[in-house]
Amino acid sequence: AKHLRLILGDQLNAMHSWFKQIDDDVIYVIAELHQEASYTKHHIKKITSFFAAMADFAQMLESKGHRVCYLTLDESIQYQDLPHLIKSLVTHYQCESFTFQRPDEYRLWSQLGNLPAQDGLTVYEADTEHFLLPFDQLPQHFQVATHVRMENFYRFMRKEFSILMEGSKPVGGAWNFDSNNRQTFKKADLKVIPKPLIFTNPAEAYLQRIKHHKIKTIGYESTNVDYPINRQQSLQLLDYFCQYQLPNFGNFQDAMTVASPYAWSLYHSRLSFSLNCKMLNPMEVIQSALTAYQASEGKITISQIEGFIRQILGWREYVRGMYWMNMPNYAQQNALSANRDLPTFFWNADTKMQCLKSAISQSLEHAYAHHIQRLMITGNFALLAGIDPNQVDDWYLGIYIDAIEWVELPNTRSMALFADGGWIATKPYAASGNYVNKMSDYCKNCRYNVKEKLGEDACPLNSLYWNFIDQNYEQLASNHRMSFPIRNWDKLDPSQKIEIREKASTLLENLDNL
Ligand code: FAD
Repeated sequence: AKHLRLILGDQLNAMHSWFKQIDDDVIYVIAELHQEASYTKHHIKKITSFFAAMADFAQMLESKGHRVCYLTLDESIQYQDLPHLIKSLVTHYQCESFTFQRPDEYRLWSQLGNLPAQDGLTVYEADTEHFLLPFDQLPQHFQVATHVRMENFYRFMRKEFSILMEGSKPVGGAWNFDSNNRQTFKKADLKVIPKPLIFTNPAEAYLQRIKHHKIKTIGYESTNVDYPINRQQSLQLLDYFCQYQLPNFGNFQDAMTVASPYAWSLYHSRLSFSLNCKMLNPMEVIQSALTAYQASEGKITISQIEGFIRQILGWREYVRGMYWMNMPNYAQQNALSANRDLPTFFWNADTKMQCLKSAISQSLEHAYAHHIQRLMITGNFALLAGIDPNQVDDWYLGIYIDAIEWVELPNTRSMALFADGGWIATKPYAASGNYVNKMSDYCKNCRYNVKEKLGEDACPLNSLYWNFIDQNYEQLASNHRMSFPIRNWDKLDPSQKIEIREKASTLLENLDNL
């Protein structure tokens, strides 16, 4: 072969122009790599899912007649890292060129962008042909270390791609139906929550290799890969979503419950793994959802479809822009100087707080939690408790099936922790137990009392919330969107303030025992 082309684990895009032609001069390399399996402590299901999807992709390419070099951990372990592997393959196959698709992670982009020169070898970077907004257009929409309003970007994207538009006006007369999307589950709703679609893909071979090579992992293992591992399964999951979940997606987007066997998935699509590995293209997901909406004769309302499209056309593309404009500095941000250690219960769900217990135990089991659990349960707790953003980032980057830094980091540092001081959110998403009680039934099943602030049984979120306002008073007081809680804090008697501070400080000293 004359040309070596690299396909990373999150570049499984069968529709890429690379694969339009069969060319015996091209060899594709797909490799299980120690460096990728261990740059953070991943959920074991995340690694088995990635490896299974990579192996399936390699087989698919081979069956179409492409030349593929697939390396398992057993074979790739002899190379110190990715650059060493490439060097060796280039020599072995006597290649004159090496091409990689632009990685979505800064870490890999720097590594591949700085490959040591090799005699007679030309290195090229290709596009992944995945995202809707071309990479070179990011600077037109995002500025370094500057607040960029998602809503403005989203409206631009709606117009640019003519999605849910009637001429220059948004379908339904508004750009955003978020205020309709805050329902909680009533008894009757709980009975009809759809069962999540689970695939049966064998994982034993990957589990064995992960153990044999002593890769450190978190979460509960399984001999099955539940997630789609190829395009066909991904399309099945997309269809399933459009048929059974989209009709209620917006309604229950922010709701949480313990009272259903499917509480962990609800009306969420679980398409993030397929999307982030590029087995699905964002536009085909949007178009499928739109087709279902149009064919539904009113059964799927505008607030369901708009809510879903905003996540993919808006948020997903937006966080990618914020990530690339702000890396590598993004990963250093800690605007609120948070420095406490992540409590041990994040790794074993051993806490009496029902909200955290539910969100963390399902994450350990399924490598999945939905957005509001990530943002308003684990994220809000880490924000209020002042946990070091590096540790929080590590946890999110490891535990979720869909966690890849370009999308994990902006969501964690900015949305959950406000560690950027306001590039994405205009105020911290800080909430007391009241919010959790409003959006879920967690508090009903909790040992703590959500109505109390100070007693032994008081919900820890309450004093931690006011303590957070107090501790960050100066920074927050200048933010007009925080004026309501600031005024409420100001109104408290000095003695009440002291009690809250004391309660919070006891909790903060004993986080592991909550
Ligand atoms: P749905 O609720 O069905 O939404 C549909 C799709 O919209 C998702 O698949 C996803 O592609 C996209 N989407 C929705 N919200 C966001 C968002 N805020 N940012 C980017 N895309 C979005 N998402 C990841 O893909 N990887 C991560 O590592 C990740 N880490 C997160 C960490 C924190 C602290 C928070 C608050 C959010 C994080 N998210 C991450 C965003 C979001 O929670 C997940 O995309 C979503 O829960 C995935 O489940 P789903 O496919 O069922 O999503």
